[in-house]
Formats: sequence, structure tokens, C-alpha cells
Amino acid sequence: MGINIDIHQFACLNDNYGYLVHEPQSGETAAVDTPDAERYLEEARAKGWAITQIWNTHWHPDHAGGNLRLKEATGCRIIGPAGEAAKIPGIDQAVKGGDVVRLGEAAAAVIDVPGHTLGHIAFHFADQSAAFVGDSVFALGCGRVFEGTMEMMWNSLKRIKALPKETLLYCAHEYTASNARFAVTIQPENKALKEYVAWIEKRRSDNLPTVPALLERELATNPFLRADLPAMQLAMGHPGDPVGTFGEIRGRKDRF
Ligand code: ZN
Ligand code: FE
Repeated sequence: MGINIDIHQFACLNDNYGYLVHEPQSGETAAVDTPDAERYLEEARAKGWAITQIWNTHWHPDHAGGNLRLKEATGCRIIGPAGEAAKIPGIDQAVKGGDVVRLGEAAAAVIDVPGHTLGHIAFHFADQSAAFVGDSVFALGCGRVFEGTMEMMWNSLKRIKALPKETLLYCAHEYTASNARFAVTIQPENKALKEYVAWIEKRRSDNLPTVPALLERELATNPFLRADLPAMQLAMGHPGDPVGTFGEIRGRKDRF
């Protein structure tokens, strides 16, 4: 029997999502990444929550750039990836895959998802079917492979794929509409994708977020998560080779 958590999502910077996760029994509140410290402080104030922790997914400034300001304003404790701890401003505790981080009575498992950066981690609240995935996976997309290899990134996506299919993926950016335009070039016949694209267009024209994304739907539509399917491998020219197939899709997206 899991403890309840409240997830408050808000848009910040150009296309980032900010997340405040609140555990009401203890009153603890975690800022998941810190794209914009002032926005986080405003949103927390409006909710009546006090930020007690920061959980960073990776070092990029649109994820950890508000750390020091938030720490100064709240005295919060900063938890970040062991694999790039030296690049996380103000870090108090470094964590890696298999570790558990606590938010009052609630707990999240840390998952290693390197590739976009070498230390990138995700936070999975299994009881709440919620995963904060940063820039590892997006709705219909995945992060650019800046620091790691295609093999590393594919192995990270496999860890996401292995989560329960009812998991909601709280991605760090609203990139879905442009990801959708690319996804249909890879899978022109995918019926589930067509339905998803129609839903995305409606959501965006109503100015509503498409995030969080349901893992089950991503498994059926997100080309990057489908590099292990024989039909996809054949279409990409890499039969029997999920890493080559993933690399081909990632390369096409980078040039799209
Ligand atoms: Zn990033
Ligand atoms: Fe980012």
C-alpha cells in the first residue's frame, strides 16, 4: 500500500516542464530538476508547499541551473547523479541506479539512463506508477545522444521499456508535436501512432500538455522504443541489430 503523492506540473523556460512532488503526510516537497528557480519558488508558494529537496536528473543548465538559488532560498537538500556529481551545483548526495530516494513516506527507485549525458538518472515511484525521466525519453522521442554511445542509450531505453506499462513518464520537455512529425516518417502505417498524432494536435491547439506520456502508448508508437522489433529493424536496414536500428533512427531525427 503506497503513500499518496501530489505531482504539480508547470511549463517553464521555452519548452521545459517543472515538477514539484509533494508527500502530504510529512510535508516534504521535491523539485525535480530546476530549470527556473523563481518559477519553482512561485509555484511552491501558490501550493503552500515548502521545497525540502531537489532531485536532479542530469547536469544541463535547464535541469540544474536553479539549484543554488533554490538551495539558498529554501535550505533544501540536493540529490543528483553520481555519474556526474562534479557538475551538479550544490549537490549533497550522489545516487545511482538501484538506490532508493525518500520523500517523507514515499520512495523512488533510481534508474541509470546514460546516453544524453553520461550520468543521467531517472526516478521511479513504483507505487504511484510515475517516472521522472528528464531528457532520456520524451513523448514520441528520446534525448539527443550527446555524451554516450548509441548502445548506451539503447540500453537505457530498455530499462524504461521494462517498467510497468501503466507507468506515466514525466518528461522534461514538451517536444511532442515535432517528435510526432518525425515519427510518422518512420512508421507511416502505424495506426496507433495516427490516433496519437490526432490527439496531440488537439491537445496542443487547446494549449494543453501532452506530458506525462503513458508508457503503454509509447511502446506502441515511439520509434526509438521500437528498435527491437524485426519489422522496424528491416525497415531501417539493420536486421537483427537493435543498436544499429536505434542509431539509424536517432541519426535520421538529428538530421530531420
Ligand atoms: Zn538535457
Ligand atoms: Fe533539457
